[in-house]
Amino acid sequence: MKIAFIGLGNMGGGMAANLTKAGHEVNAFDLSEDALAAAKDKGCTTFTDAREAVQGADAIVSMLPNGEIVKTVYIDSVIGHAPQGAVLIDCSTIDVATAKEVAAAADGAGYAMVDAPVSGGIAAANGGTLTFMIGGSDEAFKRAEPVLQDMGKAVIHAGDAGAGQTAKICNNMLLAISMIGTAEAMKMAQKLGLDPQKFYEISSQSSGYCWSLNAYTPMPGVGVDSPADNDYQGGFATALMLKDLRLAMAAADEADAAVPLGARAASLYEDFSGAGNGGLDFSAIIQTY
Ligand code: NAD
Repeated sequence: MKIAFIGLGNMGGGMAANLTKAGHEVNAFDLSEDALAAAKDKGCTTFTDAREAVQGADAIVSMLPNGEIVKTVYIDSVIGHAPQGAVLIDCSTIDVATAKEVAAAADGAGYAMVDAPVSGGIAAANGGTLTFMIGGSDEAFKRAEPVLQDMGKAVIHAGDAGAGQTAKICNNMLLAISMIGTAEAMKMAQKLGLDPQKFYEISSQSSGYCWSLNAYTPMPGVGVDSPADNDYQGGFATALMLKDLRLAMAAADEADAAVPLGARAASLYEDFSGAGNGGLDFSAIIQTY
């Protein structure tokens, strides 16, 4: 297949490389010269104009920073420029409203489009083990699925346009809440004189069982090996968690959904990130207790 890939940053660089490894011809476009040079090294053909990159492509994949940029790129350079039969796949994490708006513009111009945000970070992008959650019609999903399978381990159809973004932000809001809950409980147990490792041993096999405690223990030297054991380097950056929580709060507002704990988690991550910790793994929030 001929695939145009737009946005070759930390995530997109590895994803595009996996498409070339799978035997696809990849046309790469990014505003950054360094990103383009790295993509060229990995076997992509590089372009300095998005409209040229999408010429003749069977699929367009994008991995961009935010909704504003996604909208601009699709409206200005993809819709009406890519071949009519191309499937459009946006893997960026963006707001639900913009995802629906861009999908509607694509649909109006006769294109099949999906929102396909990912779970998994840079290591999963490089390793081809991302999980994709897809919003779009059955037909658009069917056409996007084989392309996404070459970059991930699971491709799940969530529902109509925007459903992929909805799944992603609701999941990450739950993750933020459970991480803060885990941090609070571990620190409180410690203050009450309980050995944190003993607390981990008990709670991870009791009803406190959750991913944040069991698979990503936020306290160094306790539980499983995690970014906590590496000075909170690597993993999922606090700044990215905050981005997702802001998107979740905007979506909750729009849907008139009550999210008291999500709102509290968002404000705690605002404070933690604002204090200069945006680059640390999100489990480092335990340091504030
Ligand atoms: P990044 O900043 O490393 O990469 C974004 C790339 O987009 C950059 O190379 C930038 O030059 C390029 N770009 C910006 N505007 C452009 C434009 N108009 N046209 C073409 N290229 C443009 O970011 P990233 O970490 O790769 O994240 C990308 C997306 O993936 C974000 O939406 C992020 O929320 C999501 N995400 C990231 C992670 C992670 O761990 N990094 C995990 C899951 C999801």
